Amino acid sequence: MFTKNQRLELYIEDMTEDGSGVGKADGFPFFVKDTVIGDRVEAVVTKLKKSYGYGRMLHILTPSPSRIPEACPSARRCGGCQLQAMSYERQLEFKREKVANHLKRIGGLSVPVEPVIGMEQPFHYRNKTQVPVGVDREGRLRMGFYASRSHEIVEQANCLLGGRENDRILETIRSFLTEYRIPAYDETSGRGLVRHILIRRSYETGEYLVCIVINGKHLPRQELLVERLRALAPEPTVSSVCLNINEADTNVILGEQVVNLFGPGYLEDSIGQLRFRVSPQSFFQVNPEQTRKLYETALSFAALTGTEQVWDLYCGIGTISLFLAQKAGFVRGVEIVAPAVRDAEANAVRNGLSNTRFYVGKAEEVLPRVYEEENCRPDVIVVDPPRKGCEPRVLDTMLAMQPSRIVYVSCDSATLARDLKHLTAGGYEVKKVQPVDMFPWTVSVETVCLLSKLKSTQHIEVEVKMDEMDLTAAEKKATYDEIKAYVLEHSGLKVSSLYIAQVKQKCGMIERGNYNKAKSEDAKQPQCPAEKKTAIMEALRHFEMI
Ligand code: SAH
Repeated sequence: MFTKNQRLELYIEDMTEDGSGVGKADGFPFFVKDTVIGDRVEAVVTKLKKSYGYGRMLHILTPSPSRIPEACPSARRCGGCQLQAMSYERQLEFKREKVANHLKRIGGLSVPVEPVIGMEQPFHYRNKTQVPVGVDREGRLRMGFYASRSHEIVEQANCLLGGRENDRILETIRSFLTEYRIPAYDETSGRGLVRHILIRRSYETGEYLVCIVINGKHLPRQELLVERLRALAPEPTVSSVCLNINEADTNVILGEQVVNLFGPGYLEDSIGQLRFRVSPQSFFQVNPEQTRKLYETALSFAALTGTEQVWDLYCGIGTISLFLAQKAGFVRGVEIVAPAVRDAEANAVRNGLSNTRFYVGKAEEVLPRVYEEENCRPDVIVVDPPRKGCEPRVLDTMLAMQPSRIVYVSCDSATLARDLKHLTAGGYEVKKVQPVDMFPWTVSVETVCLLSKLKSTQHIEVEVKMDEMDLTAAEKKATYDEIKAYVLEHSGLKVSSLYIAQVKQKCGMIERGNYNKAKSEDAKQPQCPAEKKTAIMEALRHFEMI
């Protein structure tokens, strides 16, 4: 029907989760990068599959009302942003729809999704930037960002998402490396020295930490580089410079060893009232302004009054745990990375919060173990798992623990939807879904979700069963059996416990009335016939029960 290189006119009616536009030709969908919902474009077919194809945009015929000029010159080549041509307002709506669609399609949940909490100034929000350093085919130094789905380095010092003064730091390093002919690392040969530049910035103090990742133990003339970076002050103020040693043949950016060249080797930062120490390797949310909003949302969903027992699973360096500890009775955090747990413990001490305990280990192992050993029943459980979501064992243990509330913080709405399906099937109800935009101009969205324990029909049925058991225990099974035997002997009729209970209730002997009451309005239950009723009444009189 279609052929490669064919030109098509497409109206972009939807967008995939990775930011490609979707337009249909005769009902056949094509994915076209760099388009925006509402654009009418001319595209050329680049690839054809059985039920869909790919196209490259040639011209915009009619721009979408949501289309804006891309603010970054590298927007189309760099793999960092996918939504640079979409107005910020529309991005927020796109993310809300994305969460709602996942919840519906994967989770089977038709729940309202709140408007996304966005940023007023959605630029330069990142407090951490990792810049790859390499060589191009001609052997020239390259510093910038990886192109979409590749390791080709796009030259760019002035990223609109990174710290405002990153470019000055990067230019200083670039001229230093060029001047002293210090070789960049070459991924293909494994030779060369400088691999990455990691820049962190404290939201609170505005200070920078610069870490040079090297394939070796020493950077030639390192004291001189420190001097030049310090000389940039006051804008930017570089308060720490360090080396990270990574001599492995790997895509992982950081090695384990850090050599401090200047300053304390870490930054001080705060979220709300809490202060944290951030080392080069620490996991720390990258958008500080939105992190505060995210944690405040999680805290308000937890609805703490000061007495609650709380768990914070996947706690990292304890940021959410400590946020909660300010308002809870006691908080237990679980995290797989041991150094992060040490940071969490130190952060608890530095913030004077002694009502916390942190466990190193997998949530799916620690939670079931502690539950079994201590039979603890928390009031609130908060989870903030990585993209793959929670293991079924974590979800099942949470269900067994029956907290009043579960607060699920998610960075992937697809796995969130899958896990919510599990939790709602287990007797919880989704109360609120609040997305927060942590990464403007990209397709990522963070979501905070509140679940509470449901007083469902399932729950009521359990109560009914309990009452039945209660009834037989309290009013003695023998009595029912005795009544049955008496009725059979004196009238020749067989009567059930149900009929006896119905008569007893009519005589005002059963207050609860659960035994013979329909579980739902429309459920039909057999009613005791008059003849049997008379016989049962006779028995009750005989036993002096009425
Ligand atoms: N709540 C923290 C960290 C969230 S990121 C914050 O807001 O800063 C998710 C965390 O889960 C990471 O720290 C990661 O190391 C940890 N993690 C990943 N798999 C885990 C598992 N199976 N059990 C416990 N923690 C895990």
